[in-house]
Amino acid sequence: MDLERHDFEIDDLVELIKSNDNRLVALQVPEGLKMQALELMDRLENESSAQIILAADPCYGACDLVHGKMKMMGVELVAHMGHSQMNIDSGMPTHFIPVTYDSEPELEPVIEWLLKHRESAKKKLRRPSNEKLTEQEKQEIFLDVVGREIALEDYKLGLVGSIQHLHLLEEYKQKLENLGFNVVIPEGGARLSFPGQVLGCNYSGDSSEIGHYLFLGSGDFHPIGLVLHTGKPLAMLDPYTGEASEMSVESIERILRQRFGLIVSVSDSQKFGILIGEKPGQMRRSLAIRVKKMLEKHGKKGYLLALEHVGPDLIDFYPVDAFVNTACPRIAIDDSVRYSKPLITPFELEVALGEKKWEHGYQFDEIP
Ligand code: SF4
Repeated sequence: MDLERHDFEIDDLVELIKSNDNRLVALQVPEGLKMQALELMDRLENESSAQIILAADPCYGACDLVHGKMKMMGVELVAHMGHSQMNIDSGMPTHFIPVTYDSEPELEPVIEWLLKHRESAKKKLRRPSNEKLTEQEKQEIFLDVVGREIALEDYKLGLVGSIQHLHLLEEYKQKLENLGFNVVIPEGGARLSFPGQVLGCNYSGDSSEIGHYLFLGSGDFHPIGLVLHTGKPLAMLDPYTGEASEMSVESIERILRQRFGLIVSVSDSQKFGILIGEKPGQMRRSLAIRVKKMLEKHGKKGYLLALEHVGPDLIDFYPVDAFVNTACPRIAIDDSVRYSKPLITPFELEVALGEKKWEHGYQFDEIP
């Protein structure tokens, strides 16, 4: 990783530690930065008089803030890097550092995808209500990639990114508008801190005026979630490499086939483990209890299992037939192959029990 081009805002953090006169500070960094954590600790200890403790447990989001146990250790401040504040209170003073990346990739490689996607979004715009369409025609025209009938009001380009690249959005909006695109930077709900921000569990900025997306970021974690949530075409531009691509329909169909296979496999299951995440921003206790009641209504049994971390070694041995996950939604979507028993989302359980219909389209498990 090119550390020189990341802004860790160390000077500001040192100033904050000094002005608070903090003696014990916890540093929390995402997995991709763990290798550099000791270097950051050295610098913070050299430039302030605080002792730094690395919160060395896995951390994949701001849902996973250092909380009570560090307080018991006497930690006075948490410096959380790589994510932004969400609508949760960890009970600890927490300073968020987005760790922005300094790069301005050329737009040229992504333009062909954007033009193709804009055409496809135009076709899906609602026709006048007096135009009679057969069911077959409706299916062909309006169905989105996850199988829902969509109600587009416009075909604007939604410009989004991961936290490290959000500072590029306004400038790129302007550049794209100069190229003739009608661009919107979507504003989401309380879980998101900035316009254009997306999380692996929240794409709440989506609206009917957005017909397709451009994602500034790397990897396909956010793109997969965004397309599963919105069903809309998505192009990707990676600021680390300058490469452009699209989230292919084939990839999404492969995921949907896998999800449907899991739904079918639990249809006769009797005993379910219902996972509740103990991390502050993943805890969905009410949803877990609703899932348990729904299972009981269908004559099945649900056991509530609360965990800080979810992993195969921690749950596979329970004598249940399958698991329903209410912790981080991406555990079921991205990791289910690692588990020896089916691991499904609450929506997928509803389909398996006949409460919802697969034919009406896939519903992404969003944490609002
Ligand atoms: S719940 Fe999962 S997807 Fe959402 S922020 Fe946390 S780790 Fe990321």
